Amino acid sequence: MDIFTLKDKDFLRKKIHTGSYGLILTHQNPDGDAIGSSLGLKHALDLAGVSSQVVVPNDFPAFLKWIPGSDDILVFERNKKSIVDLIQKADFIFFLDFNDISRIPRIEKHIRNSKAFRVLIDHHPDPGNFADMVISDVSVSSTAELVYLFIKQVFGKELIDRTVSECLYTGIMTDTGSFSFNSSNPSTYEVLSEILSYGIDKDQIYSNVYDNFSEQRMKLLGYCLDKKMVVLLDLQSAYITLTNEEKKNYGFQPGDSEGFVNYPLSVKDIYFSAFFMENGQKVKISFRSKGNIPANLFASRYFSGGGHRNAAGGESELTMEKTIEKFTGLLPGFFDDIKDVANE
Ligand code: 5GP
Ligand code: MN
Repeated sequence: MDIFTLKDKDFLRKKIHTGSYGLILTHQNPDGDAIGSSLGLKHALDLAGVSSQVVVPNDFPAFLKWIPGSDDILVFERNKKSIVDLIQKADFIFFLDFNDISRIPRIEKHIRNSKAFRVLIDHHPDPGNFADMVISDVSVSSTAELVYLFIKQVFGKELIDRTVSECLYTGIMTDTGSFSFNSSNPSTYEVLSEILSYGIDKDQIYSNVYDNFSEQRMKLLGYCLDKKMVVLLDLQSAYITLTNEEKKNYGFQPGDSEGFVNYPLSVKDIYFSAFFMENGQKVKISFRSKGNIPANLFASRYFSGGGHRNAAGGESELTMEKTIEKFTGLLPGFFDDIKDVANE
Protein backbone atom coordinates (compact mmCIF):
# COMPACT_ATOMS: atom_id res chain seq x y z
CA MET A 1 0.00 0.00 0.00
CA ASP A 2 1.54 3.31 -1.07
CA ILE A 3 0.13 6.06 1.11
CA PHE A 4 2.17 8.98 -0.25
CA THR A 5 2.57 10.81 -3.47
CA LEU A 6 6.09 11.63 -4.59
CA LYS A 7 5.36 15.26 -3.81
CA ASP A 8 4.42 14.40 -0.21
CA LYS A 9 7.59 12.36 0.20
CA ASP A 10 9.83 15.12 -1.11
CA PHE A 11 8.07 17.63 1.03
CA LEU A 12 8.41 15.53 4.20
CA ARG A 13 12.09 14.84 3.53
CA LYS A 14 12.68 18.57 3.21
CA LYS A 15 10.92 19.28 6.50
CA ILE A 16 12.48 16.40 8.43
CA HIS A 17 16.21 16.23 7.86
CA THR A 18 19.55 16.03 9.66
CA GLY A 19 19.79 19.09 11.84
CA SER A 20 16.04 19.55 12.27
CA TYR A 21 14.45 18.87 15.64
CA GLY A 22 11.05 17.45 16.37
CA LEU A 23 8.61 16.21 18.96
CA ILE A 24 6.55 13.07 18.86
CA LEU A 25 3.36 13.49 20.87
CA THR A 26 0.87 10.81 21.73
CA HIS A 27 -2.40 10.66 23.64
CA GLN A 28 -3.32 10.82 27.31
CA ASN A 29 -3.28 7.43 29.09
CA PRO A 30 -0.88 6.08 26.46
CA ASP A 31 -1.37 2.45 25.44
CA GLY A 32 0.94 -0.02 23.68
CA ASP A 33 0.24 1.43 20.26
CA ALA A 34 0.82 4.99 21.44
CA ILE A 35 4.17 4.18 23.06
CA GLY A 36 5.27 1.57 20.49
CA SER A 37 4.55 3.74 17.46
CA SER A 38 6.13 6.83 19.06
CA LEU A 39 9.34 5.08 20.07
CA GLY A 40 9.51 3.21 16.75
CA LEU A 41 9.36 6.51 14.90
CA LYS A 42 11.87 8.09 17.27
CA HIS A 43 14.44 5.31 16.76
CA ALA A 44 13.97 5.49 12.99
CA LEU A 45 14.58 9.25 13.03
CA ASP A 46 17.69 8.61 15.16
CA LEU A 47 18.99 6.35 12.39
CA ALA A 48 18.46 9.23 9.96
CA GLY A 49 20.42 11.57 12.23
CA VAL A 50 17.28 13.55 13.06
CA SER A 51 16.82 14.38 16.75
CA SER A 52 13.43 14.06 18.34
CA GLN A 53 11.79 13.69 21.73
CA VAL A 54 8.75 11.59 22.65
CA VAL A 55 6.27 13.41 24.92
CA VAL A 56 3.20 11.99 26.65
CA PRO A 57 0.57 13.95 28.62
CA ASN A 58 0.63 11.57 31.61
CA ASP A 59 2.50 8.48 32.72
CA PHE A 60 2.15 5.12 31.01
CA PRO A 61 1.81 1.62 32.46
CA ALA A 62 4.78 -0.34 33.83
CA PHE A 63 4.17 -3.18 31.35
CA LEU A 64 5.38 -0.83 28.59
CA LYS A 65 8.48 0.37 30.42
CA TRP A 66 10.77 -2.29 28.92
CA ILE A 67 10.34 -0.86 25.40
CA PRO A 68 13.68 0.51 24.17
CA GLY A 69 13.80 4.26 24.76
CA SER A 70 10.85 4.33 27.19
CA ASP A 71 13.11 5.72 29.95
CA ASP A 72 13.72 8.85 27.88
CA ILE A 73 10.06 9.71 27.32
CA LEU A 74 9.09 13.05 28.87
CA VAL A 75 5.81 13.22 30.80
CA PHE A 76 4.11 16.61 30.50
CA GLU A 77 2.66 16.49 34.02
CA ARG A 78 6.20 16.30 35.44
CA ASN A 79 8.20 18.38 32.90
CA LYS A 80 5.88 21.15 31.85
CA LYS A 81 8.46 23.93 31.59
CA SER A 82 11.05 22.02 29.58
CA ILE A 83 8.42 20.59 27.23
CA VAL A 84 6.95 24.03 26.55
CA ASP A 85 10.50 25.14 25.61
CA LEU A 86 10.92 22.14 23.32
CA ILE A 87 7.61 22.93 21.61
CA GLN A 88 8.92 26.43 20.85
CA LYS A 89 12.11 24.98 19.44
CA ALA A 90 10.56 22.18 17.34
CA ASP A 91 10.71 22.28 13.54
CA PHE A 92 8.22 19.45 13.25
CA ILE A 93 5.71 17.72 15.52
CA PHE A 94 4.20 14.29 15.02
CA PHE A 95 0.82 13.53 16.56
CA LEU A 96 0.47 9.79 16.87
CA ASP A 97 -2.56 7.60 17.58
CA PHE A 98 -5.27 10.19 18.24
CA ASN A 99 -7.84 12.01 16.14
CA ASP A 100 -8.81 14.87 18.42
CA ILE A 101 -6.50 17.51 19.88
CA SER A 102 -8.36 17.27 23.21
CA ARG A 103 -6.58 13.92 23.68
CA ILE A 104 -3.43 15.90 24.59
CA PRO A 105 -5.03 18.12 27.24
CA ARG A 106 -2.92 21.00 28.63
CA ILE A 107 -0.28 20.51 25.88
CA GLU A 108 -2.82 21.56 23.27
CA LYS A 109 -2.68 25.28 23.99
CA HIS A 110 1.13 25.39 23.72
CA ILE A 111 1.02 23.71 20.32
CA ARG A 112 -1.21 26.42 18.89
CA ASN A 113 1.59 29.01 18.98
CA SER A 114 4.24 26.70 17.62
CA LYS A 115 5.80 27.25 14.20
CA ALA A 116 6.44 23.54 13.74
CA PHE A 117 5.19 21.53 10.80
CA ARG A 118 2.57 19.11 12.17
CA VAL A 119 1.98 15.61 10.90
CA LEU A 120 -0.83 13.40 12.20
CA ILE A 121 -0.49 9.62 11.83
CA ASP A 122 -3.55 7.81 13.13
CA HIS A 123 -6.18 5.14 12.54
CA HIS A 124 -9.22 6.54 14.38
CA PRO A 125 -12.29 7.71 12.46
CA ASP A 126 -12.87 11.40 11.60
CA PRO A 127 -9.50 13.05 12.25
CA GLY A 128 -9.81 16.64 13.46
CA ASN A 129 -8.32 19.56 11.63
CA PHE A 130 -5.22 20.23 13.73
CA ALA A 131 -2.30 19.09 11.58
CA ASP A 132 -0.67 20.31 8.37
CA MET A 133 -0.50 16.80 6.97
CA VAL A 134 -2.89 14.00 7.89
CA ILE A 135 -2.06 10.34 7.38
CA SER A 136 -5.13 8.56 8.65
CA ASP A 137 -6.60 5.21 7.73
CA VAL A 138 -9.22 3.42 9.85
CA SER A 139 -8.71 0.17 7.98
CA VAL A 140 -5.17 -0.19 9.33
CA SER A 141 -4.69 -2.25 12.51
CA SER A 142 -2.72 0.30 14.45
CA THR A 143 -0.77 3.51 14.29
CA ALA A 144 2.38 1.39 14.55
CA GLU A 145 1.53 -0.31 11.25
CA LEU A 146 1.04 3.10 9.63
CA VAL A 147 4.31 4.35 11.10
CA TYR A 148 6.07 1.36 9.54
CA LEU A 149 4.65 2.29 6.12
CA PHE A 150 5.49 5.93 6.73
CA ILE A 151 9.14 5.23 7.55
CA LYS A 152 9.60 2.77 4.72
CA GLN A 153 7.88 4.83 2.06
CA VAL A 154 9.17 8.27 2.99
CA PHE A 155 12.69 7.52 4.23
CA GLY A 156 13.38 3.97 3.08
CA LYS A 157 14.02 0.64 4.77
CA GLU A 158 17.49 1.77 5.93
CA LEU A 159 15.65 3.39 8.82
CA ILE A 160 14.14 0.12 10.03
CA ASP A 161 16.23 -1.99 12.38
CA ARG A 162 15.62 -4.47 15.16
CA THR A 163 14.88 -1.78 17.75
CA VAL A 164 12.42 0.04 15.50
CA SER A 165 10.79 -3.32 14.74
CA GLU A 166 10.44 -4.26 18.42
CA CYS A 167 8.64 -1.00 19.14
CA LEU A 168 6.33 -1.25 16.14
CA TYR A 169 5.57 -4.93 16.75
CA THR A 170 4.48 -4.04 20.29
CA GLY A 171 2.08 -1.43 18.90
CA ILE A 172 0.52 -3.80 16.40
CA MET A 173 0.29 -6.67 18.89
CA THR A 174 -1.36 -4.63 21.63
CA ASP A 175 -3.82 -2.78 19.37
CA THR A 176 -5.07 -6.04 17.87
CA GLY A 177 -5.37 -7.90 21.19
CA SER A 178 -2.57 -10.16 19.96
CA PHE A 179 -4.17 -10.50 16.53
CA SER A 180 -7.67 -11.27 17.75
CA PHE A 181 -9.37 -8.11 16.41
CA ASN A 182 -8.66 -5.29 13.89
CA SER A 183 -6.32 -7.69 12.19
CA SER A 184 -8.12 -9.35 9.29
CA ASN A 185 -6.36 -7.35 6.62
CA PRO A 186 -3.66 -9.39 4.86
CA SER A 187 -1.53 -6.26 4.52
CA THR A 188 -1.02 -6.24 8.32
CA TYR A 189 0.73 -9.60 8.00
CA GLU A 190 2.87 -8.34 5.15
CA VAL A 191 4.11 -5.60 7.47
CA LEU A 192 4.54 -8.12 10.29
CA SER A 193 6.49 -10.44 8.06
CA GLU A 194 8.90 -7.62 7.23
CA ILE A 195 9.16 -6.58 10.88
CA LEU A 196 9.91 -10.16 11.95
CA SER A 197 12.72 -10.35 9.43
CA TYR A 198 14.75 -8.02 11.69
CA GLY A 199 15.15 -10.86 14.18
CA ILE A 200 12.86 -9.66 16.96
CA ASP A 201 11.74 -12.16 19.60
CA LYS A 202 7.96 -11.90 19.35
CA ASP A 203 7.32 -14.42 22.14
CA GLN A 204 9.51 -12.41 24.47
CA ILE A 205 7.63 -9.22 23.53
CA TYR A 206 4.32 -10.96 24.30
CA SER A 207 5.70 -12.05 27.63
CA ASN A 208 7.11 -8.59 28.44
CA VAL A 209 3.64 -7.09 27.96
CA TYR A 210 1.26 -9.75 29.23
CA ASP A 211 3.24 -11.68 31.85
CA ASN A 212 4.33 -8.63 33.72
CA PHE A 213 1.47 -8.02 36.13
CA SER A 214 1.76 -7.63 39.86
CA GLU A 215 0.14 -10.16 42.16
CA GLN A 216 -2.18 -7.40 43.37
CA ARG A 217 -3.38 -6.73 39.83
CA MET A 218 -4.30 -10.36 39.28
CA LYS A 219 -6.21 -10.36 42.58
CA LEU A 220 -7.98 -7.14 41.57
CA LEU A 221 -9.02 -8.79 38.30
CA GLY A 222 -10.39 -11.77 40.23
CA TYR A 223 -12.29 -9.43 42.53
CA CYS A 224 -13.75 -7.45 39.61
CA LEU A 225 -14.96 -10.57 37.82
CA ASP A 226 -16.30 -12.26 40.92
CA LYS A 227 -17.83 -9.35 42.80
CA LYS A 228 -18.20 -6.44 40.39
CA MET A 229 -19.26 -7.76 37.00
CA VAL A 230 -22.93 -7.18 36.22
CA VAL A 231 -24.36 -9.14 33.31
CA LEU A 232 -27.49 -7.69 31.66
CA LEU A 233 -28.37 -10.69 29.52
CA ASP A 234 -31.56 -9.18 28.09
CA LEU A 235 -29.48 -6.26 26.76
CA GLN A 236 -26.60 -8.52 25.72
CA SER A 237 -24.39 -6.20 27.75
CA ALA A 238 -22.26 -6.35 30.85
CA TYR A 239 -20.23 -3.93 32.93
CA ILE A 240 -17.71 -3.73 35.74
CA THR A 241 -17.25 -0.86 38.19
CA LEU A 242 -14.23 0.05 40.30
CA THR A 243 -14.21 2.74 42.97
CA ASN A 244 -11.37 4.85 44.39
CA GLU A 245 -11.63 2.90 47.64
CA GLU A 246 -11.37 -0.47 45.92
CA LYS A 247 -8.38 0.78 43.95
CA LYS A 248 -6.72 1.76 47.21
CA ASN A 249 -7.46 -1.62 48.77
CA TYR A 250 -5.60 -3.35 45.94
CA GLY A 251 -2.65 -0.91 45.80
CA PHE A 252 -3.77 0.14 42.32
CA GLN A 253 -1.05 1.26 39.90
CA PRO A 254 -1.64 2.95 36.53
CA GLY A 255 -2.34 0.30 33.90
CA ASP A 256 -3.55 -2.31 36.40
CA SER A 257 -7.07 -2.26 34.93
CA GLU A 258 -5.86 -2.52 31.33
CA GLY A 259 -7.87 -5.21 29.56
CA PHE A 260 -10.53 -5.64 32.29
CA VAL A 261 -13.21 -4.30 29.94
CA ASN A 262 -12.62 -7.18 27.52
CA TYR A 263 -13.51 -9.97 29.94
CA PRO A 264 -17.31 -9.55 29.93
CA LEU A 265 -17.24 -10.05 26.14
CA SER A 266 -16.09 -13.61 26.79
CA VAL A 267 -19.49 -14.36 28.35
CA LYS A 268 -21.75 -16.11 25.85
CA ASP A 269 -24.23 -13.74 24.18
CA ILE A 270 -22.58 -10.57 25.49
CA TYR A 271 -21.80 -8.08 22.72
CA PHE A 272 -21.30 -4.82 24.59
CA SER A 273 -19.12 -4.26 27.62
CA ALA A 274 -18.22 -1.27 29.76
CA PHE A 275 -15.69 -0.70 32.50
CA PHE A 276 -16.24 2.24 34.86
CA MET A 277 -13.39 3.38 37.07
CA GLU A 278 -13.37 6.27 39.51
CA ASN A 279 -10.41 8.55 38.88
CA GLY A 280 -10.45 11.26 41.53
CA GLN A 281 -13.77 13.05 41.09
CA LYS A 282 -14.45 11.68 37.61
CA VAL A 283 -15.43 8.29 36.26
CA LYS A 284 -13.27 7.08 33.36
CA ILE A 285 -15.09 4.68 31.08
CA SER A 286 -13.95 2.08 28.57
CA PHE A 287 -16.34 0.49 26.09
CA ARG A 288 -15.86 -2.62 23.96
CA SER A 289 -18.24 -4.18 21.47
CA LYS A 290 -18.43 -7.01 19.00
CA GLY A 291 -19.43 -6.83 15.35
CA ASN A 292 -21.26 -3.75 14.13
CA ILE A 293 -22.20 -2.23 17.48
CA PRO A 294 -20.62 1.27 17.36
CA ALA A 295 -19.08 1.67 20.81
CA ASN A 296 -17.54 4.97 19.64
CA LEU A 297 -20.98 6.38 18.82
CA PHE A 298 -22.21 5.49 22.31
CA ALA A 299 -19.09 7.07 23.85
CA SER A 300 -19.30 10.29 21.86
CA ARG A 301 -23.06 10.69 22.17
CA TYR A 302 -23.37 10.16 25.90
CA PHE A 303 -19.96 10.25 27.58
CA SER A 304 -17.86 13.00 25.89
CA GLY A 305 -15.60 10.43 24.31
CA GLY A 306 -14.91 8.56 21.12
CA GLY A 307 -12.63 5.92 19.66
CA HIS A 308 -12.98 2.97 17.33
CA ARG A 309 -16.16 1.07 16.53
CA ASN A 310 -15.24 -1.83 18.82
CA ALA A 311 -13.04 -0.03 21.36
CA ALA A 312 -13.92 3.39 22.71
CA GLY A 313 -13.80 5.44 25.86
CA GLY A 314 -15.21 8.47 27.57
CA GLU A 315 -15.81 9.95 30.98
CA SER A 316 -18.52 11.06 33.37
CA GLU A 317 -18.59 13.79 35.98
CA LEU A 318 -21.53 12.19 37.77
CA THR A 319 -21.06 9.91 40.74
CA MET A 320 -20.46 6.24 39.99
CA GLU A 321 -24.01 5.40 41.01
CA LYS A 322 -25.54 8.09 38.76
CA THR A 323 -23.20 7.14 35.91
CA ILE A 324 -24.40 3.53 36.05
CA GLU A 325 -28.02 4.70 36.19
CA LYS A 326 -27.40 6.82 33.11
CA PHE A 327 -25.63 3.97 31.32
CA THR A 328 -28.24 1.30 31.96
CA GLY A 329 -31.02 3.78 31.20
CA LEU A 330 -29.52 4.65 27.81
CA LEU A 331 -28.80 1.12 26.60
CA PRO A 332 -32.29 0.07 25.38
CA GLY A 333 -32.77 3.28 23.35
CA PHE A 334 -29.26 3.05 21.93
CA PHE A 335 -29.74 -0.52 20.74
CA ASP A 336 -33.06 0.50 19.24
CA ASP A 337 -31.39 3.39 17.36
CA ILE A 338 -28.62 1.28 15.93
CA LYS A 339 -30.74 -1.77 15.11
CA ASP A 340 -30.22 -1.27 11.38
CA VAL A 341 -26.43 -0.90 11.53
CA ALA A 342 -25.99 -3.57 14.19
CA ASN A 343 -27.75 -6.19 12.06
CA GLU A 344 -25.71 -5.48 8.93
P1 5GP B 1 -9.31 2.41 26.45
O1 5GP B 1 -10.63 1.85 26.81
O2 5GP B 1 -8.32 1.33 26.14
O3 5GP B 1 -8.83 3.45 27.39
O4 5GP B 1 -9.53 3.20 25.08
C1 5GP B 1 -9.96 2.53 23.93
C2 5GP B 1 -9.99 3.51 22.78
O5 5GP B 1 -11.01 4.46 23.04
C3 5GP B 1 -8.72 4.32 22.64
O6 5GP B 1 -7.89 3.73 21.67
C4 5GP B 1 -9.20 5.65 22.17
O7 5GP B 1 -9.36 5.60 20.78
C5 5GP B 1 -10.60 5.76 22.71
N1 5GP B 1 -10.76 6.59 23.91
C6 5GP B 1 -10.58 6.23 25.20
N2 5GP B 1 -10.88 7.24 26.02
C7 5GP B 1 -11.25 8.28 25.24
C8 5GP B 1 -11.70 9.62 25.50
O8 5GP B 1 -11.81 10.06 26.64
N3 5GP B 1 -11.98 10.39 24.42
C9 5GP B 1 -11.88 9.92 23.13
N4 5GP B 1 -12.19 10.74 22.12
N5 5GP B 1 -11.49 8.67 22.86
C10 5GP B 1 -11.18 7.86 23.88
MN1 MN C 1 -4.00 2.78 18.17
